[in-house]
Amino acid sequence: MKITIVAGARPNFIKIAPIIKAIEKKQKDGANISYRLVHTGQHYDKNLSDTFFEELNIPHPNANLEVKSGSQSVQTAAIMIAFEQELLQNPCDLVLVVGDVNSTMACAVVAKKLNIKVTHVEAGIRSGDMTMPEEINRIVTDSITDYFFTTSTWAGENLLKYGAEPSTVHFVGNVMIDTLYQNLNRIAAPSFWNEFKLETGNYIILTLHRPANVDEEKSLINLLEGIDKMVGDKKIIFPIHPRTKAILGETNLELKNILFVEPQGYLNFMYLIKNSFAVITDSGGISEETTVLGIPCFTMRNNTERPETQTIGTNTLVGTSIENLEKIFGEFLVNGPRKAGIPELWDGKASERIIDILLSKK
Ligand code: UDP
Repeated sequence: MKITIVAGARPNFIKIAPIIKAIEKKQKDGANISYRLVHTGQHYDKNLSDTFFEELNIPHPNANLEVKSGSQSVQTAAIMIAFEQELLQNPCDLVLVVGDVNSTMACAVVAKKLNIKVTHVEAGIRSGDMTMPEEINRIVTDSITDYFFTTSTWAGENLLKYGAEPSTVHFVGNVMIDTLYQNLNRIAAPSFWNEFKLETGNYIILTLHRPANVDEEKSLINLLEGIDKMVGDKKIIFPIHPRTKAILGETNLELKNILFVEPQGYLNFMYLIKNSFAVITDSGGISEETTVLGIPCFTMRNNTERPETQTIGTNTLVGTSIENLEKIFGEFLVNGPRKAGIPELWDGKASERIIDILLSKK
């Protein structure tokens, strides 16, 4: 079985790493399986891309389509044009896409139109929010996927509602959590740990990159100033995403607690999360990682495609207004963290299950 694996953006790299390891393990055991890794170039900053390949020991991609930035449609179209050539020159039995970025959808569509089977890892999750490009990517990808791999039974139910054939839907767990477990003994403090006098449990991690939170400069500044005031004397480490940085530009902010740092590599970032007091974020992936690490997470969104992080895990949806965050965070400061658990099958073995199932399909 020849699989073409697609990855385009930071969260994709974290998700494909354990899948590649699982394939290589099977190859060693003599299974007839090979892969070709295609990087679409959607994320190309060193600290959003190369660092993850190095730290997670992901093999150098066989091809890099180098599409870089663009509007939603320009980027999607560029990926489709380049990926069609890639597949015509390098035929395969199956294209495997992960997550919900433009590369996920664009490559799924190209593969399907070339009559190649499509596998979607992290299928079936839905926020119900059609203003998010990711939601459109999820729906389109899942509408043409042949083999679905899900992180929850809820995601599977969504797929069945949309008409997926039950025998094609497989609840396997969470590949992002595979990566977390595979690397927990390698995480390391970043170089600024001592400089900022960070101690376990005495600082907060902040990440913001969703358009709804960062694309309006005035409301972003209002949000940052509010968060800065809300946390007493706790330091806030803010690895600033290039999108957010571009909006803030040269703005001079007078912030007492928030410390801006570059986007962190995986091993430093996981160390920071694991040892933090709490996390404030608009990322979906981080709400999964904080759930497994038992760290309180406050998600600055009105909806989530990962409800199990809320019903089972440590995640609380706080909406996008600073007033709501202040209220909910204030309650947390008084009452402490609530009891939480880890969702079913988030055990570090999802990738192995995926490869076993794919091999059984042939
Ligand atoms: N991440 C990282 N360094 C950072 C910020 C995030 O390694 O400075 C990791 C994070 O742990 C998670 C992934 O990147 O695994 C999430 O990426 P992002 O927030 O871009 O995507 P989303 O989850 O929102 O799709």
